[in-house]
Amino acid sequence: MEFDLIARIRDRCAHQRSDVALGIGDDAALLDVPPGQQLVACTDTLVAGVHFPSGTAPEDIGWKALAVNLSDLAAMGAEPAWALLALTLPDADAQFVERFADGFATLANQHAVALIGGDITQGPLSVTVTALGFIPRDSALTRGGARVGDAVFVTGTLGDAAGALCLLQDLQESHPPRSPFVRKGEDKPHPLPAEGRSGANARASAGREAAGGGVAAFRQHVREDADASLLARLNRPEPRVAAGLALRGGASACIDVSDGLLADLGHVCAASGVGAEIEADALPVSSQLAASFDAQTCRDLALSGGDDYELCFIAPLARETEIVEKLAHAGCGVTRIGRIVSGSNVRVLDANANEIEIARAGWEHFPR
Ligand code: ADP
Ligand code: MG
Repeated sequence: MEFDLIARIRDRCAHQRSDVALGIGDDAALLDVPPGQQLVACTDTLVAGVHFPSGTAPEDIGWKALAVNLSDLAAMGAEPAWALLALTLPDADAQFVERFADGFATLANQHAVALIGGDITQGPLSVTVTALGFIPRDSALTRGGARVGDAVFVTGTLGDAAGALCLLQDLQESHPPRSPFVRKGEDKPHPLPAEGRSGANARASAGREAAGGGVAAFRQHVREDADASLLARLNRPEPRVAAGLALRGGASACIDVSDGLLADLGHVCAASGVGAEIEADALPVSSQLAASFDAQTCRDLALSGGDDYELCFIAPLARETEIVEKLAHAGCGVTRIGRIVSGSNVRVLDANANEIEIARAGWEHFPR
Protein backbone atom coordinates (compact mmCIF):
# COMPACT_ATOMS: atom_id res chain seq x y z
CA MET A 1 0.00 0.00 0.00
CA GLU A 2 2.79 2.34 0.97
CA PHE A 3 4.40 1.83 -2.43
CA ASP A 4 1.11 2.45 -4.17
CA LEU A 5 0.85 5.79 -2.34
CA ILE A 6 4.43 6.69 -3.24
CA ALA A 7 3.65 5.91 -6.89
CA ARG A 8 0.61 8.19 -6.78
CA ILE A 9 2.72 11.01 -5.34
CA ARG A 10 5.51 10.48 -7.87
CA ASP A 11 3.06 10.47 -10.79
CA ARG A 12 1.62 13.80 -9.69
CA CYS A 13 4.91 15.48 -8.84
CA ALA A 14 6.49 14.85 -12.19
CA HIS A 15 8.69 17.92 -12.55
CA GLN A 16 12.13 16.81 -13.74
CA ARG A 17 15.43 18.63 -13.34
CA SER A 18 18.70 17.81 -15.04
CA ASP A 19 20.58 18.23 -11.75
CA VAL A 20 18.77 15.20 -10.26
CA ALA A 21 21.08 12.28 -11.07
CA LEU A 22 18.83 9.85 -9.18
CA GLY A 23 15.39 10.72 -7.82
CA ILE A 24 12.55 8.83 -6.11
CA GLY A 25 12.97 5.05 -5.98
CA ASP A 26 16.36 4.24 -4.48
CA ASP A 27 17.55 4.49 -0.88
CA ALA A 28 18.53 8.12 -1.36
CA ALA A 29 18.62 10.74 -4.10
CA LEU A 30 21.78 11.85 -5.91
CA LEU A 31 22.02 15.55 -6.73
CA ASP A 32 24.45 17.81 -8.56
CA VAL A 33 25.10 21.12 -6.83
CA PRO A 34 26.24 23.73 -9.39
CA PRO A 35 29.90 24.74 -8.97
CA GLY A 36 30.42 27.90 -6.94
CA GLN A 37 27.05 27.63 -5.23
CA GLN A 38 26.27 26.76 -1.64
CA LEU A 39 23.53 24.26 -0.85
CA VAL A 40 20.76 25.84 1.28
CA ALA A 41 18.65 23.43 3.33
CA CYS A 42 15.60 23.85 5.56
CA THR A 43 12.74 21.77 6.93
CA ASP A 44 9.37 22.58 8.45
CA THR A 45 6.56 20.41 9.77
CA LEU A 46 2.83 21.09 9.57
CA VAL A 47 0.75 19.36 12.24
CA ALA A 48 -3.03 19.07 11.80
CA GLY A 49 -4.86 21.33 14.23
CA VAL A 50 -1.73 23.38 14.95
CA HIS A 51 -0.45 24.64 11.59
CA PHE A 52 -3.68 24.26 9.68
CA PRO A 53 -7.24 23.89 10.94
CA SER A 54 -8.49 20.32 10.75
CA GLY A 55 -10.82 20.22 7.77
CA THR A 56 -8.38 22.13 5.54
CA ALA A 57 -8.58 20.85 1.96
CA PRO A 58 -5.85 18.29 1.15
CA GLU A 59 -4.72 20.41 -1.84
CA ASP A 60 -4.22 23.38 0.47
CA ILE A 61 -2.20 21.30 2.96
CA GLY A 62 0.03 20.07 0.12
CA TRP A 63 0.56 23.60 -1.17
CA LYS A 64 1.22 25.04 2.25
CA ALA A 65 3.66 22.32 3.34
CA LEU A 66 5.91 23.26 0.43
CA ALA A 67 5.17 27.00 0.61
CA VAL A 68 6.40 27.43 4.19
CA ASN A 69 9.69 25.79 3.22
CA LEU A 70 10.13 27.79 0.00
CA SER A 71 9.51 30.84 2.17
CA ASP A 72 12.50 29.90 4.34
CA LEU A 73 14.66 29.53 1.23
CA ALA A 74 13.36 32.90 -0.02
CA ALA A 75 14.33 34.53 3.27
CA MET A 76 17.91 33.37 2.66
CA GLY A 77 17.88 34.71 -0.90
CA ALA A 78 18.15 31.15 -2.22
CA GLU A 79 16.86 29.66 -5.46
CA PRO A 80 14.77 26.55 -4.70
CA ALA A 81 15.59 23.30 -6.50
CA TRP A 82 14.59 20.12 -4.67
CA ALA A 83 12.24 18.89 -1.95
CA LEU A 84 11.75 15.81 0.23
CA LEU A 85 8.34 14.94 1.64
CA ALA A 86 7.74 12.96 4.85
CA LEU A 87 4.05 12.22 5.28
CA THR A 88 2.42 10.80 8.38
CA LEU A 89 -1.15 9.68 7.64
CA PRO A 90 -3.85 8.24 9.91
CA ASP A 91 -4.72 5.73 7.18
CA ALA A 92 -3.82 4.84 3.59
CA ASP A 93 -6.32 7.27 2.07
CA ALA A 94 -5.37 7.28 -1.63
CA GLN A 95 -7.77 10.09 -2.46
CA PHE A 96 -6.31 12.32 0.23
CA VAL A 97 -2.79 11.58 -0.97
CA GLU A 98 -3.67 12.37 -4.59
CA ARG A 99 -5.31 15.67 -3.71
CA PHE A 100 -2.45 16.54 -1.36
CA ALA A 101 0.10 15.76 -4.10
CA ASP A 102 -1.85 17.88 -6.62
CA GLY A 103 -1.62 20.93 -4.33
CA PHE A 104 2.05 20.26 -3.63
CA ALA A 105 2.80 19.82 -7.34
CA THR A 106 1.00 23.02 -8.36
CA LEU A 107 3.40 25.10 -6.28
CA ALA A 108 6.41 22.90 -7.02
CA ASN A 109 5.88 23.37 -10.76
CA GLN A 110 5.60 27.14 -10.38
CA HIS A 111 9.06 27.19 -8.83
CA ALA A 112 10.63 24.35 -10.86
CA VAL A 113 11.11 22.28 -7.70
CA ALA A 114 11.66 18.53 -8.15
CA LEU A 115 10.40 16.11 -5.50
CA ILE A 116 13.36 13.79 -4.95
CA GLY A 117 12.25 11.52 -2.11
CA GLY A 118 10.48 11.19 1.18
CA ASP A 119 8.82 8.81 3.57
CA ILE A 120 5.33 7.63 4.50
CA THR A 121 4.39 6.53 8.00
CA GLN A 122 1.16 5.87 9.87
CA GLY A 123 0.05 8.18 12.69
CA PRO A 124 -1.76 11.47 13.33
CA LEU A 125 -1.74 13.67 10.20
CA SER A 126 1.51 15.58 9.91
CA VAL A 127 3.63 16.70 6.97
CA THR A 128 7.35 17.44 6.98
CA VAL A 129 8.96 18.95 3.89
CA THR A 130 12.67 19.47 3.46
CA ALA A 131 13.53 22.03 0.80
CA LEU A 132 16.92 22.44 -0.82
CA GLY A 133 18.21 25.27 -2.97
CA PHE A 134 21.30 27.15 -4.08
CA ILE A 135 22.95 30.43 -3.45
CA PRO A 136 26.25 31.83 -4.74
CA ARG A 137 28.89 31.39 -2.04
CA ASP A 138 28.75 34.00 0.75
CA SER A 139 25.71 35.88 -0.58
CA ALA A 140 22.98 34.48 1.70
CA LEU A 141 20.68 36.90 3.54
CA THR A 142 21.08 36.03 7.21
CA ARG A 143 19.44 37.36 10.37
CA GLY A 144 22.66 38.75 11.75
CA GLY A 145 23.46 41.69 9.45
CA ALA A 146 21.17 44.48 10.71
CA ARG A 147 23.00 47.68 11.71
CA VAL A 148 21.88 50.71 13.74
CA GLY A 149 20.50 53.31 11.34
CA ASP A 150 19.29 50.74 8.78
CA ALA A 151 15.63 50.81 7.75
CA VAL A 152 13.11 47.99 8.29
CA PHE A 153 10.95 46.90 5.35
CA VAL A 154 8.25 44.34 4.74
CA THR A 155 6.92 42.93 1.46
CA GLY A 156 3.21 42.76 0.63
CA THR A 157 0.68 43.07 3.45
CA LEU A 158 0.51 41.63 6.97
CA GLY A 159 -2.26 40.13 9.08
CA ASP A 160 -4.43 38.50 6.41
CA ALA A 161 -3.72 34.91 7.43
CA ALA A 162 -4.31 35.63 11.11
CA GLY A 163 -7.51 37.43 10.15
CA ALA A 164 -8.66 34.31 8.31
CA LEU A 165 -7.88 32.23 11.38
CA CYS A 166 -10.14 34.51 13.43
CA LEU A 167 -12.92 33.90 10.92
CA LEU A 168 -12.45 30.15 11.28
CA GLN A 169 -12.17 30.07 15.06
CA ASP A 170 -15.82 29.46 15.75
CA LEU A 171 -15.89 26.61 13.24
CA GLN A 172 -12.71 24.97 14.42
CA GLU A 173 -13.00 24.59 18.17
CA SER A 174 -10.11 22.14 18.20
CA HIS A 175 -7.76 24.64 16.59
CA PRO A 176 -5.98 26.62 19.29
CA PRO A 177 -6.82 30.29 18.71
CA ARG A 178 -3.69 32.34 18.15
CA SER A 179 -5.23 35.64 19.15
CA PRO A 180 -8.52 36.84 20.60
CA PHE A 181 -9.35 39.28 17.83
CA VAL A 182 -12.85 40.40 17.00
CA ARG A 183 -14.45 41.51 13.80
CA LYS A 184 -15.37 45.03 12.81
CA GLY A 185 -18.35 46.32 14.79
CA GLU A 186 -18.76 43.19 16.89
CA ASP A 187 -17.84 42.26 20.44
CA LYS A 188 -17.19 38.58 19.83
CA PRO A 189 -15.78 36.48 16.99
CA HIS A 190 -17.99 36.43 13.94
CA PRO A 191 -19.92 33.17 13.49
CA LEU A 192 -19.58 31.64 10.06
CA PRO A 193 -22.22 29.61 8.21
CA ALA A 194 -22.18 25.98 9.31
CA GLU A 195 -20.96 24.67 5.95
CA GLY A 196 -17.78 26.76 6.14
CA ARG A 197 -16.39 29.08 3.58
CA SER A 198 -14.06 27.97 0.89
CA GLY A 199 -13.33 30.77 -1.55
CA ALA A 200 -15.63 29.31 -4.16
CA ASN A 201 -18.51 28.87 -1.72
CA ALA A 202 -18.11 32.39 -0.42
CA ARG A 203 -18.17 33.92 -3.89
CA ALA A 204 -21.17 31.86 -4.93
CA SER A 205 -23.23 32.71 -1.86
CA ALA A 206 -22.16 36.35 -1.96
CA GLY A 207 -23.33 36.54 -5.55
CA ARG A 208 -26.74 35.14 -4.62
CA GLU A 209 -27.15 37.56 -1.74
CA ALA A 210 -26.06 40.55 -3.77
CA ALA A 211 -28.56 39.61 -6.46
CA GLY A 212 -31.20 39.57 -3.69
CA GLY A 213 -30.70 43.29 -3.43
CA GLY A 214 -29.90 46.45 -1.61
CA VAL A 215 -27.03 48.15 0.10
CA ALA A 216 -26.94 45.65 2.97
CA ALA A 217 -26.54 42.78 0.56
CA PHE A 218 -23.82 44.63 -1.30
CA ARG A 219 -21.90 45.24 1.91
CA GLN A 220 -22.25 41.57 2.83
CA HIS A 221 -20.94 40.72 -0.63
CA VAL A 222 -17.86 42.89 -0.09
CA ARG A 223 -17.20 41.30 3.27
CA GLU A 224 -17.53 37.73 2.01
CA ASP A 225 -15.27 38.45 -0.93
CA ALA A 226 -12.78 39.89 1.54
CA ASP A 227 -13.12 36.76 3.70
CA ALA A 228 -12.39 34.55 0.71
CA SER A 229 -9.26 36.55 -0.03
CA LEU A 230 -8.10 36.28 3.61
CA LEU A 231 -8.68 32.53 3.59
CA ALA A 232 -6.60 32.23 0.43
CA ARG A 233 -3.73 33.93 2.25
CA LEU A 234 -4.01 31.38 5.07
CA ASN A 235 -4.37 28.30 2.90
CA ARG A 236 -2.22 29.18 -0.11
CA PRO A 237 0.61 31.44 1.04
CA GLU A 238 2.80 32.66 -1.84
CA PRO A 239 6.45 32.25 -0.90
CA ARG A 240 8.41 35.40 -1.83
CA VAL A 241 11.05 33.58 -3.81
CA ALA A 242 11.54 36.26 -6.49
CA ALA A 243 11.75 38.95 -3.82
CA GLY A 244 14.41 36.98 -1.93
CA LEU A 245 16.48 36.69 -5.10
CA ALA A 246 16.06 40.42 -5.76
CA LEU A 247 17.28 41.25 -2.25
CA ARG A 248 20.63 39.46 -2.67
CA GLY A 249 23.42 41.97 -2.30
CA GLY A 250 20.99 44.70 -1.20
CA ALA A 251 19.50 43.71 2.16
CA SER A 252 21.66 43.49 5.25
CA ALA A 253 19.35 40.99 7.00
CA CYS A 254 16.15 39.13 6.21
CA ILE A 255 13.57 36.79 7.76
CA ASP A 256 10.22 35.46 6.63
CA VAL A 257 7.20 36.39 8.74
CA SER A 258 5.85 33.04 9.90
CA ASP A 259 5.25 33.58 13.62
CA GLY A 260 4.28 37.28 13.54
CA LEU A 261 6.21 40.44 12.68
CA LEU A 262 7.17 41.33 16.25
CA ALA A 263 8.41 37.83 17.02
CA ASP A 264 10.29 37.43 13.75
CA LEU A 265 11.81 40.92 13.73
CA GLY A 266 12.79 40.13 17.32
CA HIS A 267 14.83 37.17 16.01
CA VAL A 268 16.65 39.48 13.59
CA CYS A 269 17.37 41.95 16.40
CA ALA A 270 18.66 39.21 18.69
CA ALA A 271 20.92 37.78 15.97
CA SER A 272 22.20 41.24 15.01
CA GLY A 273 22.56 42.65 18.54
CA VAL A 274 20.27 45.62 17.84
CA GLY A 275 16.77 46.93 18.61
CA ALA A 276 14.03 48.15 16.28
CA GLU A 277 11.27 50.75 16.20
CA ILE A 278 8.15 50.08 14.15
CA GLU A 279 5.70 52.82 13.15
CA ALA A 280 2.24 51.39 13.72
CA ASP A 281 0.72 53.68 11.10
CA ALA A 282 3.12 52.45 8.43
CA LEU A 283 2.11 48.77 8.69
CA PRO A 284 0.74 47.59 5.33
CA VAL A 285 -2.64 45.87 5.62
CA SER A 286 -4.79 44.70 2.73
CA SER A 287 -8.08 46.36 1.84
CA GLN A 288 -9.69 42.97 2.52
CA LEU A 289 -8.40 42.92 6.11
CA ALA A 290 -9.51 46.52 6.61
CA ALA A 291 -12.97 45.56 5.31
CA SER A 292 -13.30 42.83 7.93
CA PHE A 293 -11.72 44.22 11.10
CA ASP A 294 -11.46 47.60 12.84
CA ALA A 295 -8.23 49.59 12.57
CA GLN A 296 -6.76 48.58 15.92
CA THR A 297 -7.45 44.91 15.29
CA CYS A 298 -5.83 45.19 11.84
CA ARG A 299 -2.77 46.69 13.50
CA ASP A 300 -2.59 43.93 16.11
CA LEU A 301 -3.05 41.22 13.47
CA ALA A 302 -0.30 42.80 11.37
CA LEU A 303 2.07 42.92 14.35
CA SER A 304 1.37 39.59 16.02
CA GLY A 305 -0.47 37.38 13.56
CA GLY A 306 1.55 34.59 11.96
CA ASP A 307 1.40 32.69 8.68
CA ASP A 308 1.75 35.61 6.26
CA TYR A 309 5.09 34.44 4.80
CA GLU A 310 6.05 37.93 3.71
CA LEU A 311 9.72 38.92 3.96
CA CYS A 312 10.83 41.36 6.63
CA PHE A 313 14.22 42.74 5.66
CA ILE A 314 16.69 45.33 6.83
CA ALA A 315 18.64 47.58 4.48
CA PRO A 316 20.55 50.86 4.53
CA LEU A 317 18.14 53.73 3.84
CA ALA A 318 20.35 54.83 0.93
CA ARG A 319 19.41 51.62 -0.92
CA GLU A 320 15.64 52.12 -0.60
CA THR A 321 14.98 53.37 -4.14
CA GLU A 322 17.09 50.67 -5.75
CA ILE A 323 15.46 47.93 -3.64
CA VAL A 324 11.91 49.15 -4.24
CA GLU A 325 12.60 49.12 -7.99
CA LYS A 326 14.06 45.63 -7.93
CA LEU A 327 11.14 44.30 -5.90
CA ALA A 328 8.63 45.98 -8.21
CA HIS A 329 10.37 44.16 -11.04
CA ALA A 330 9.88 40.94 -9.03
CA GLY A 331 6.15 41.74 -8.83
CA CYS A 332 6.30 42.54 -5.15
CA GLY A 333 5.15 45.58 -3.18
CA VAL A 334 7.27 46.78 -0.28
CA THR A 335 6.78 49.20 2.64
CA ARG A 336 9.28 50.85 4.96
CA ILE A 337 7.91 50.29 8.45
CA GLY A 338 10.64 51.40 10.83
CA ARG A 339 14.31 51.58 11.74
CA ILE A 340 17.05 49.72 13.51
CA VAL A 341 18.17 51.34 16.77
CA SER A 342 20.63 50.43 19.50
CA GLY A 343 19.30 48.24 22.27
CA SER A 344 17.61 44.86 22.08
CA ASN A 345 13.82 45.46 22.02
CA VAL A 346 11.31 45.80 19.22
CA ARG A 347 9.13 48.79 20.09
CA VAL A 348 5.95 49.90 18.32
CA LEU A 349 5.38 53.66 18.08
CA ASP A 350 2.20 55.64 17.40
CA ALA A 351 2.00 58.79 15.24
CA ASN A 352 3.35 60.88 18.16
CA ALA A 353 6.31 58.52 18.64
CA ASN A 354 4.83 57.20 21.89
CA GLU A 355 5.30 53.50 22.53
CA ILE A 356 2.24 51.26 22.11
CA GLU A 357 2.03 48.24 24.40
CA ILE A 358 1.26 45.09 22.42
CA ALA A 359 -0.07 42.18 24.43
CA ARG A 360 0.93 39.18 22.36
CA ALA A 361 4.17 39.01 20.39
CA GLY A 362 3.49 36.00 18.20
CA TRP A 363 2.92 32.28 18.14
CA GLU A 364 5.03 29.95 20.29
CA HIS A 365 4.71 26.19 20.39
CA PHE A 366 5.96 25.93 23.96
CA PRO A 367 4.81 29.14 25.70
CA ARG A 368 6.31 29.60 29.15
P1 ADP B 1 13.50 3.14 2.43
O1 ADP B 1 12.82 2.01 3.12
O2 ADP B 1 14.81 2.78 1.79
O3 ADP B 1 13.58 4.38 3.27
P2 ADP B 1 11.04 3.81 1.21
O4 ADP B 1 10.33 2.54 0.95
O5 ADP B 1 10.66 4.61 2.41
O6 ADP B 1 12.60 3.51 1.19
O7 ADP B 1 10.89 4.74 -0.05
C1 ADP B 1 11.15 4.27 -1.35
C2 ADP B 1 11.46 5.44 -2.24
O8 ADP B 1 10.31 6.27 -2.30
C3 ADP B 1 12.60 6.29 -1.73
O9 ADP B 1 13.30 6.79 -2.86
C4 ADP B 1 11.90 7.42 -1.02
O10 ADP B 1 12.68 8.59 -1.03
C5 ADP B 1 10.64 7.57 -1.86
N1 ADP B 1 9.52 8.07 -1.06
C6 ADP B 1 8.95 7.50 0.03
N2 ADP B 1 7.94 8.24 0.51
C7 ADP B 1 7.86 9.32 -0.30
C8 ADP B 1 7.04 10.46 -0.33
N3 ADP B 1 6.09 10.71 0.59
N4 ADP B 1 7.24 11.37 -1.31
C9 ADP B 1 8.20 11.19 -2.21
N5 ADP B 1 9.01 10.13 -2.25
C10 ADP B 1 8.85 9.20 -1.30
MG1 MG C 1 11.97 5.36 4.06
